Amino acid sequence: MTILLQNVKLNNQTTDILISDNIFKKISPNQPTTADTVIDCNNFAILPAFYNTHSHAPMSIFRGISDDKNLFDWLNNDIWPREAKLTPEMVYTATKFSILEMIKTGTVFFSDMYFFSEAILQAVSDMGIRAAVSFCSCDLFDKQKLQTEIKKTEQFLNTPNPAPELIKKVLSVHAIYTASDDLFRYNAKLAEELNTNLHIHACETQKEVDDCISKYNHTPIQHLDYLGTLSDKTTLAHSVWLNDTDINILADKKTWLCTNPTSNLKLASGIFMLNKLLDKGCRITLGTDSMASNNSLSMLSEMKICALLAKIAANDPTAGSAQTIFEIATRNGAQAFGLNAGHITEGALADCILVDLNNHLLAPEYNLISNIVYAADSSCIDTVICNGKILMQNHHIPGEEKIIEDIKKLSNFFR
Ligand SMILES: [Zn+2]
Repeated sequence: MTILLQNVKLNNQTTDILISDNIFKKISPNQPTTADTVIDCNNFAILPAFYNTHSHAPMSIFRGISDDKNLFDWLNNDIWPREAKLTPEMVYTATKFSILEMIKTGTVFFSDMYFFSEAILQAVSDMGIRAAVSFCSCDLFDKQKLQTEIKKTEQFLNTPNPAPELIKKVLSVHAIYTASDDLFRYNAKLAEELNTNLHIHACETQKEVDDCISKYNHTPIQHLDYLGTLSDKTTLAHSVWLNDTDINILADKKTWLCTNPTSNLKLASGIFMLNKLLDKGCRITLGTDSMASNNSLSMLSEMKICALLAKIAANDPTAGSAQTIFEIATRNGAQAFGLNAGHITEGALADCILVDLNNHLLAPEYNLISNIVYAADSSCIDTVICNGKILMQNHHIPGEEKIIEDIKKLSNFFR
């Protein structure tokens, strides 16, 4: 299967790009038009697609159901009681809806933590994007539940992977305030044995840090380090409340910090110190968190908020440049999960978006990356390609009408 992107703008030059199977095979002008599919890219620019490294895809069913609350009130009173009513079928429907929004906004990969993860695997496979899927373990410090969580993790790992080329099975633990030391140790050891990624919420709120210090006499990062969970395959979502010792540990371990700026602002959790962390050598990716706390899965709006917040955090308008944020949302996210992607180069995985240069939000054309980070919305994205396959063309995803109808029907259950 080959696709020729003819006369496409790449880094301000017009060229042709041949995609063969799942990689960018050849980038040069005037290639023969013998490909299986030829796309006329006049007025299109090609860019890397986005890699969303923290999400809870099934929570799209809760978009707009509870807003404007603090994290613990929101979780305890509005989210967890409703999550208890979810079924695998609901998780499948809601995940497909989330993926629809991701594709519409140019995302081709997400790293997810949730339960009924077998249903998530199927939804990802059916939609054709990439994902790192995990069973989110959380024992609430209960010895019996610890054993159940271990069993559920094993069950998930033993479930056949419906799309091994696209899906990586990874591990996750909810957070230091919901999981015992034994559960963290089990996951850390397993991640090492399986050479896979480990995904944890950490240092999201000041309360989490204060409670951890009262309980363990050190910070969440120091505790996670003590439990052996920090490595270059660990992603810590949020990472808002960090002291200098924490930052040094994280830089030293090459741990990935996934910032979730919209969720942090909406829940008033705090401000991620992007510039300081970059200066100290930390590795950073970008994620949306869920549709219940964001309430969008658009990496376009996430990039803008991330850039703006970085400036306020550093009290410096040069912090969080459009180029820096764009790389965090593309190349870094792919790298964190071992993908040779997030850049348009020969030999890289063929993941990309085609943006419409006739869209008013991308004019004038002084600086495309600036326009993408600070001005663009989903209307700018015409085509999305993942692993050499077209997922959206001319703004349309096959079957999208049914996916929207299904989530609306399902929402009647939670009213
Ligand atoms: Zn989260």
